[in-house]
Amino acid sequence: MKKLKNKVALITGGAGGIGLATAKLFLEEGAKVMLVDVNEGELKKIEESINSKDLAYCVANVATSKDTSTYLNTTLQKFGKIDIFFNNAGIEGDFHPISEYPEEMFDKVIAVNLKGVWLGCQQVIPKMENGGSVMITSSVAGLKGFKGLGAYVTSKHALIGIMRVAALEFADRQIRVNTIHPGPVNNRMMRSIEKQISPNNPTEAEKGFEASIPFGRYAESQEIANMALFLASSESSYITGTTQVVDGGMLLL
Ligand code: NAD
Repeated sequence: MKKLKNKVALITGGAGGIGLATAKLFLEEGAKVMLVDVNEGELKKIEESINSKDLAYCVANVATSKDTSTYLNTTLQKFGKIDIFFNNAGIEGDFHPISEYPEEMFDKVIAVNLKGVWLGCQQVIPKMENGGSVMITSSVAGLKGFKGLGAYVTSKHALIGIMRVAALEFADRQIRVNTIHPGPVNNRMMRSIEKQISPNNPTEAEKGFEASIPFGRYAESQEIANMALFLASSESSYITGTTQVVDGGMLLL
């Protein structure tokens, strides 16, 4: 029996590593999936390669209220309802100590990672089906500090606050809200962070991260998608208001 039969899932950051791996898994499990992203070229490629009537996309910037209502309404028009909301889009921002962090970059990271998730919760959850599930992608950086990633770390900690309040406010409709906290994932975002830390030798930065993970390796996007599937499915029917860590033991050290 497919775990997401007759369910409709909305995934922001859907053209990225974690969003796309999750979309593929949700499709396999019988869901209809709407991908939301700013990267139109990538969305088009994904739609062509997957080529399924159960997959659609919407180009939108999650950081604006107008685009949030666009992606919400596009999903409702296309698929008629929303059961699962993976509020997942995020950017890493630049790598600087707090004392030198450019104000514009701080504003940009907060706009996408924090306000974008907030707007999604504000507009999408009230329109969801009773008994639905919301997953917000935070990070291990939502539970501990990382030098140089001040704006990112700040935004990812704040998501726990949004999650906790939304979990309380929508509990009467049995809508569950949880955060997912991946450690470093083997995809574009870590390649960008590695290059910023060690521009001349990104492999060195990668080795440094790996040494800080008891499992000695990054996660694959698929391993984060597996947690998203668990939280989206009825297997997690009594889990709400929680922080789900997927980090190969990184927070132990
Ligand atoms: P990614 O860069 O591959 O994907 C992020 C996606 O979000 C991209 O497709 C990007 O175009 C999209 N996006 C960026 N700004 C947007 C905006 N304003 N509106 C709509 N879409 C936008 O990286 P990923 O690993 O798939 O990231 C997904 C989430 O996981 C992010 O919130 C990220 O912070 C979090 N995360 C990633 C890692 C990691 O190591 N990659 C670790 C912990 C948490």
